[in-house]
Amino acid sequence: MSIASIVSHPTNTCQGRSTPNCAIRNKTSVSGYTCGMTEKIFWSDPYLSALDTLVTAVDSDTIQLKETIFYAFSGGQESDSGTIGGYPVQTATKVGTDIHYRLAPDHPLRTGDAVHVEIDWPRRYALMRLHFAAELVLELVSREVTAIEKVGAHIAQDKARIDFKTTENISAYFPIVSAKAQAIIEADLPIISAFSDEAAQRRYWEIPDFARVPCGGTHLRSTREVGGIRLKRKNVGKGTERIEIYLAECSPS
Ligand SMILES: [Zn+2]
Repeated sequence: MSIASIVSHPTNTCQGRSTPNCAIRNKTSVSGYTCGMTEKIFWSDPYLSALDTLVTAVDSDTIQLKETIFYAFSGGQESDSGTIGGYPVQTATKVGTDIHYRLAPDHPLRTGDAVHVEIDWPRRYALMRLHFAAELVLELVSREVTAIEKVGAHIAQDKARIDFKTTENISAYFPIVSAKAQAIIEADLPIISAFSDEAAQRRYWEIPDFARVPCGGTHLRSTREVGGIRLKRKNVGKGTERIEIYLAECSPS
């Protein structure tokens, strides 16, 4: 690992810290679109915070899109917040390989309508940073602690948590796990995100020479974007230890 340039070094704020992209993605006319699986732009460009696309299906308050930047809860990462056609998205739900967006029942959208989609970028960026922090911590804990099993994980905007079955006090490993995670973060390593099976919509992230892990979340370009992290232990009982992960600048005292 080498300490590379600090071009992407984050500043100290709990808000989004990278300039999001905004692009017109779809210039297809309404009559020209073909209905199919929603294209997940949040995978090909997880830094895109606004998108113009088309509505491909409407069923009462639930709609589908031709393409989307709006992540739906999966793999422990919470859904994005935002709007479609100016209407707040109330829930985003993964249904097979599609995503259903529920709007207020009085929305006027129809199949074929052109819509502008926007996500709450500071929220998404915090989710991406905490998601990758959790990935690093999970990988390192699995290597440092013998006889430990992950039994749950959740990534929210203010913190991530990972639950483990173990009889040990997990905080004994915090110094080594924190030091190793922070070294990987500071090394500014590129994070590869790609399909392992595109037809089945299976994805992975990889840091060459470190790990390759199946995951359908949205990932950073570089480890350095995670910034400083803090770990907290919570004993949730019944042989389960919880690690809470905070971004350093947002960490509770
Ligand atoms: Zn993941």
